Amino acid sequence: MPGNGNPEIKYTKLFINNEFVDAVSKKKFPTLNPATAEKIVEVAEADKADVDIAVAAARKAFAIGSPWRTLDASARGKLMQKFADLVERDRAYLSELESLDNGKPVGDSDFDIGCAIDTIRYFAGWADKIHGETIPVDGNFMTITRKEPVGVVGSIIPWNYPILMAVWKLGPALTSGCTIVLKPAEQTPLTALYLASLIKEAGFPAGVVNVVPGYGPTAGAALSNHLDVDKVAFTGSTDVGRLIMGAAASSNLKRVTLELGGKSPLVVCADADIAEAAEIAHGAIFNNHGQNCCAGSRTFVEAGIYEKFVAKAKELADARKVGDPFQEGIQQGPQVDEDQFKKILELVDSGKQQGARLVTGGNRFGTKGYFVQPTVFADVKDDMRIAKEEIFGPVQSIFKFDNMDEVIVRANATTYGLAAGIITNDINKALQFAQSVQAGSVWVNCYDAVLPQTPFGGYKQSGQGRELGKEALHEYLETKTITIGLKQKI
Ligand code: ADP
Repeated sequence: MPGNGNPEIKYTKLFINNEFVDAVSKKKFPTLNPATAEKIVEVAEADKADVDIAVAAARKAFAIGSPWRTLDASARGKLMQKFADLVERDRAYLSELESLDNGKPVGDSDFDIGCAIDTIRYFAGWADKIHGETIPVDGNFMTITRKEPVGVVGSIIPWNYPILMAVWKLGPALTSGCTIVLKPAEQTPLTALYLASLIKEAGFPAGVVNVVPGYGPTAGAALSNHLDVDKVAFTGSTDVGRLIMGAAASSNLKRVTLELGGKSPLVVCADADIAEAAEIAHGAIFNNHGQNCCAGSRTFVEAGIYEKFVAKAKELADARKVGDPFQEGIQQGPQVDEDQFKKILELVDSGKQQGARLVTGGNRFGTKGYFVQPTVFADVKDDMRIAKEEIFGPVQSIFKFDNMDEVIVRANATTYGLAAGIITNDINKALQFAQSVQAGSVWVNCYDAVLPQTPFGGYKQSGQGRELGKEALHEYLETKTITIGLKQKI
């Protein structure tokens, strides 16, 4: 059941040192329901002074000899499993809260939470399996390496998957033994605060996780410029990623991981089953209302099946159910806020003006809230704005291609490199593409298969570093080399 659309809001204050507290300034900011554009509630607004207090709490929790530092590694894993159990217990409530604040259908929120639980459990399993090596060095020495937590991590996350993004940051940080100050996006602070209450209930020591809702240029910038933050993990736009890296460089050279935008190509070869390929391509762009950094936002279709594919894509877009995220069967709710809504419609207009063929949609949906019609453009040319700029909305752009060599060059002609996909029954084409495309994830005959066990991240201006999988751990660890002088080698 999608619920009644009116979940109780239990937490609206900052979470620091395992307590919910007001902002130093006592300021609050509103969070809106994107389905109605009305205020849900006001939330305490963190700024630099609050970030300073949260970072001090995280630093204290990380001090040598602290309860967190002296906890057995296996016990860290057990705490994380307890946290996952609590998320599971409150899954239905969290789904409603997520949908209220973000606008995605409750079924989508529930799906995200399932992925979040799997991710916490995956990382929990690593807690007592992270270790260094013994190295056979030259001379009368013995060398061992230790894998140590990087320290206090500032995590800055976006609004498109609020719970899942929080967990992508918390999972590897906690299992590595770091402490965290998490800044949720200003559009969607509510579920991160509820997760904070579960962190406390699970029994994590005070200060290990702190949550400071607030705006980017204030709270976010305070974190990325902070001299006592050892690493910042960011997911969001490429423009802000640039600012974060600059702030890290000009403050204390803190470690930085960035997961940024994309303009990911999905190639459909003529040998593919058209209906199946159209379904995959539809999901690749329309899932989560197109608000997905790895969305398949450039659909390249081989000439021989082009018109049949376009017709099928139109059929699927026309059948998409748009409306109240709390209503059964709805597949697409509102975009997250007015800024995104306007940006999407402006890019759609540019597509019309620059001569792309509007196959369906192309306007606002309804008269209230931030809904956009599922939109399909065909005959999109590589130099149009809709071909180059990240739209982050329910807008499919279809391009025609003639052969593999050509489509590989066109797929790579972007500053981004987050993901790519190909649909074909020809293994040679699949492998040629998978090896040639400059992207962190490549999906063959599927799309968006992002799994806790597999590394995820971007080539080029789509990011730095990897999240998920074993590779994510390295981003939260320092390697210490300890060399011991020996009387003699034995
Ligand atoms: P989007 O355009 O998708 O909203 P942003 O990159 O603007 O993505 O936002 C992602 C996250 O980055 C949010 O938590 C936001 O508050 C934060 N943010 C925005 N500007 C800054 C900044 N100057 N410094 C640090 N964080 C920021």
